[in-house]
Amino acid sequence: MRETVRGRWQRIAGVAVVIGSLFALALTATAGGGSKEKGKMKQLTPEEERVIAHKGTEAPFSGEYLKHSEDGTYTCRRCGQALFRSADKFDSGCGWPSFDDALPGAVREHADPDGLRTEIVCASCGAHLGHVFTGEGFTQRSVRHCVNSISLEFTPAATAPATSRALFAGGCFWGVEHHFSMEPGVLHVTSGYTGGHVPSPIYEQVCEGNTGHLEAVEVVFDPKVTSFEKLARLFFEIHDPTQVGGQGPDIGEQYRSAIFVVDDEQRRVAKKLIALLREQGLDVATEVREAGPFWPAEAGHQDYYASKGTLPYCHVKVKRF
Ligand SMILES: [Zn+2]
Repeated sequence: MRETVRGRWQRIAGVAVVIGSLFALALTATAGGGSKEKGKMKQLTPEEERVIAHKGTEAPFSGEYLKHSEDGTYTCRRCGQALFRSADKFDSGCGWPSFDDALPGAVREHADPDGLRTEIVCASCGAHLGHVFTGEGFTQRSVRHCVNSISLEFTPAATAPATSRALFAGGCFWGVEHHFSMEPGVLHVTSGYTGGHVPSPIYEQVCEGNTGHLEAVEVVFDPKVTSFEKLARLFFEIHDPTQVGGQGPDIGEQYRSAIFVVDDEQRRVAKKLIALLREQGLDVATEVREAGPFWPAEAGHQDYYASKGTLPYCHVKVKRF
């Protein structure tokens, strides 16, 4: 008898399930043995093993993430792969955590051997997660990834630090401080000295030279309102980054242009902006250096222009980006 298209698809699907099961079995065997390739796999408890490796189901309304509503990411309990976002979690009333979407490529689906349900597994390690159902109308997407809590682990959303810090040297600190203190998201600007080898320097020492210090400003900002990149762009627009050995009329090593970075991300951004300026033909002299101790300058140097009621003579904003 001639095989129908439908029959052929069923046979192909059957073979796929067998191959999939063999693959999952192989992975299970590997994980169980604590193999070398899967060295990062977590050692499972007997109950985790029953659900994750042997496709069991935890009792409904018993899992730790059923009523969990924190902001973050659900990962595979066995291998740590990120699987679901809390933003896609909803209450289906079914007794297991429900998600109407998975992270791209994170979850694989295949038909259960009984052909009735569609199993979902971690695409990275094959851990059994649960089943996926469609067309139920619970949410706009009408998809329900019904997942055992025990197959998951939760990582809270990274909480941004309350404030961040940046250090810029662009000539006389009075003018640099003036511009940064007007910038939205900037909480506090302090004029001071950094980059040298003399502890607690005073203005006269720095002016004389031989301290290695640069006049600089410490900018404390709210990363929810502004960013290091935005501030660094401003920095390059309020001074001439191509001038060597000084800034404007102020000549001396303490007036050099530099960014003192506090981490690798700031370093990356600073170098990126310098590369952008060089593409425009600017021969940028700004040094990118690692942040060290910062010594606030004497009170008379803080908020200089604001307290005098005048404007900087040496720092005027020029559009460069
Ligand atoms: Zn996994």
